[in-house]
Amino acid sequence: MMAALLFARAGVRTILLEKHADFLRDFRGDTIHPSTMEIMSELGLLEAFLERPHQEVTSLAGNLGDTVVQVADFTHLPSRCKFLAFMPQWDFLNFLAEEAKRYPTFELRTQARAGDLLWEGERVVGVRAQTPTGSLEIRATLTVAADGRSSLIRERAGLRPIDLGAPMDVLWLRLSKFRDDPHETFGYIRNGRIMALIDRGAYWQCAYVISKGTFQELRARGLDAFRQDVSSLVPFLSDRVEEIDAWDDVKLLTVQVNRLTQWYLPGLLCIGDAAHAMSPIGGVGINLAIQDAVAAANLLAGKLARGTTSAADLRAVQRRRERAARLTQTLQLFIQRNVIGRVLGGDHAPPVLAGLRGLVRRLPILTRIPARLIGLGFRPEHVEATRS
Ligand SMILES: Cc1cc2nc3c(=O)[nH]c(=O)nc-3n(C[C@H](O)[C@H](O)[C@H](O)COP(=O)(O)OP(=O)(O)OC[C@H]3O[C@@H](n4cnc5c(N)ncnc54)[C@H](O)[C@@H]3O)c2cc1C
Repeated sequence: MMAALLFARAGVRTILLEKHADFLRDFRGDTIHPSTMEIMSELGLLEAFLERPHQEVTSLAGNLGDTVVQVADFTHLPSRCKFLAFMPQWDFLNFLAEEAKRYPTFELRTQARAGDLLWEGERVVGVRAQTPTGSLEIRATLTVAADGRSSLIRERAGLRPIDLGAPMDVLWLRLSKFRDDPHETFGYIRNGRIMALIDRGAYWQCAYVISKGTFQELRARGLDAFRQDVSSLVPFLSDRVEEIDAWDDVKLLTVQVNRLTQWYLPGLLCIGDAAHAMSPIGGVGINLAIQDAVAAANLLAGKLARGTTSAADLRAVQRRRERAARLTQTLQLFIQRNVIGRVLGGDHAPPVLAGLRGLVRRLPILTRIPARLIGLGFRPEHVEATRS
């Protein structure tokens, strides 16, 4: 959506295909990072965006056993917004779609599932999409695969990601939030269990981390055992765990961490999760996808407006963004291996965690580093493409 908005804004005729009828779906991450708000500001959209209902979080803390440790403090970031904004992803996408629709060069086609690629020799020249009224062929100078972690377009192009592995899956669930609950967004680590709580105003969006592939085992132990696990990990939730009524209230996210070695073919570019699915650590997947979109528009919109893009132009987008994705994944893999994998494996005090706790206590200024990595990331992009 961000790529389509930016290309359309730069005067490039852009058709966005979305297989669903709307953007209203299950929870899949609501974080809007300071770097994304910087981009919104550069587009003149920040005030209107912040008028929409959202929550703002200025710091993140971890509850390790019985000690609370500040992990990230966003208040010193060199950016206009010194906080993470939480907004349901469908509201954010609808907001961007409304803005994009102001450009006559933008067209959104919902219920249009892109499938086969159209080829001319070695070059991709568009896609075939299935719609309720039949099949549709769309020819395009550039096809952008922004179709997520299970990208069909990537598969049809024969591009295969390398799997970097993850020791965990995540169970998402909601529990009510009461007035006297703690207010900061918290991560809890206790007795071999991990859970993150995201403050969504009226409720907590909870991410309960389990060892990879163990969901069926957990289900077999029964809902009562699961409720007890949640209560013993986060005691203040024990008065509402009965809200977990059925396993249908618990959604499994199978964590994937992967990346393509080549993001493009002549006429085709993969961005976002289609190019690199991120670990949920740090909640940076949306941010990176948006940064890819900005880089793609900066590097390609002018060329597309003039007629075409070469493989070298598409390679330039990969070169610009790949390092940020790789560095972020390297950090995530380090945390997966040295903290998450160890805690889930029964290590109650992984050395990295203990070291970090001591370090942050002595030097609280260090909480600015994770804030920067989460809030701005490696190589934040800025909107360059001018409006036509
Ligand atoms: C449960 C869950 C929680 C998450 N939490 C966070 C978080 O807190 N913070 C964060 O930053 N990231 C989070 N993520 C990751 C984040 O959602 C992704 O990294 C990000 O959305 C990637 O953006 P994208 O545009 O590349 O792909 P997506 O957001 O996956 O968008 C792909 C779009 O393409 C559409 N589509 C797919 N196939 C086709 C097709 N063939 N034809 C037409 N349309 C198609 C889909 O319907 C979808 O709208 C979470 C993910 C999940 C699943």
